[in-house]
Amino acid sequence: MNQKIIGRTTYEQIYEKLSKIINLDELIKKKALKFKSTGFMDLNFDFLRFDEQKRIIIVISHYFKQNGDMVADPDMEIRIDKSWVEYGGATCEALTFQDAYKYQEVYSRSKSNEIINSRLKTALNKFLLQWLKNNLFLKNLKNFVPYVEVVHPVYTNDPLNMYLILGSHNALLLDTGCGLYPLKLLVDDLIGKRNLLVFKSHSHWDHPLGNVEFGEVYIHENEVDIISKPYDDSYFKDSPNEIVKIYAEKNFLIPTAKTIKPLKDGDAFDLGEIKIKVIHCPGHSPGSICLLTNTGELFTSNVAYYGDQFLPKRDDFPVVLKSLSKLIELCEKQEKLELYPSHRSYPCDITLITDLYKGIENIENLWDTKKPFDFFEAWQIDDESGKFRYYISRI
Ligand SMILES: [Zn+2]
Repeated sequence: MNQKIIGRTTYEQIYEKLSKIINLDELIKKKALKFKSTGFMDLNFDFLRFDEQKRIIIVISHYFKQNGDMVADPDMEIRIDKSWVEYGGATCEALTFQDAYKYQEVYSRSKSNEIINSRLKTALNKFLLQWLKNNLFLKNLKNFVPYVEVVHPVYTNDPLNMYLILGSHNALLLDTGCGLYPLKLLVDDLIGKRNLLVFKSHSHWDHPLGNVEFGEVYIHENEVDIISKPYDDSYFKDSPNEIVKIYAEKNFLIPTAKTIKPLKDGDAFDLGEIKIKVIHCPGHSPGSICLLTNTGELFTSNVAYYGDQFLPKRDDFPVVLKSLSKLIELCEKQEKLELYPSHRSYPCDITLITDLYKGIENIENLWDTKKPFDFFEAWQIDDESGKFRYYISRI
């Protein structure tokens, strides 16, 4: 029988990610290594021992400061098996997990028997893979920008996610946020010697207002004009929140980057080991884009996320649905794509887009429940599932 092996197991993938972050031989020699280049919290690696089968046991931990003390949260014991590396692979798996709340272990002993908690084994290894992946090349800067609700209480689609993708020689920053706190220093620190590309998912205020800190930014050609001039956010004049004083000091005209470069559907960028393709998905705005990597991530920007949806006029819904179909097709073609939206939780899977597609199709049936929402000059309709609230433009 002809057997074809497709893809790699989670354990092989974990090994691969781990070996991109640290050199195992160096770790064994030095006993401890710190991975600093992308973390705000350092990622620490400690070599513990070899087990009876010569497998390598190490500990990975994040440290943060609490009341002046360094606390490890979480920390995981990991086992690396290189015994079959000459047959084309090596594996790495999680053994234990410790955070502020509990200690869990995959393998435990009762008398002479080894007990495997298989549910925990699956969960921990999935977590570990994601953890290493995030530390390897993907940073969400959401903790370093104010939540959009901080600017005006009408917004509930928090948090805002700004992603920094680190290739081997280029880095890509997707969006620059609300422009309320300095961002560039932080980004410079994270990217090291890499060149930086700055992309806008689209031109709505919570995504481009930090542009002025960066010399050059890319946006889809349909929205180049909007961000080529200072951005008028005077609709926040009456916000009850203190923070808008920062905008008031600039007369609610937020300066932009010197150079704005246009993007087109299909444009490709090489970050070194990670390749990025631009997918034009009009609907939420005429120049909304999504980014697809060759490593299995789809950044869905504001084209798809859970929560408040800002939609164009009812007549333009076919444009929105067409863009969502394009993404659904992509997800079906490329199994196991992870979705990273620009708001709320991540990673998501294809159900985010199919849920949204069905939800927007169903607006027709809910049309009579619409209420005017004047701040957005929109109709508000609440989805029956509770997953979405729609603001449909009236202008
Ligand atoms: Zn938007």
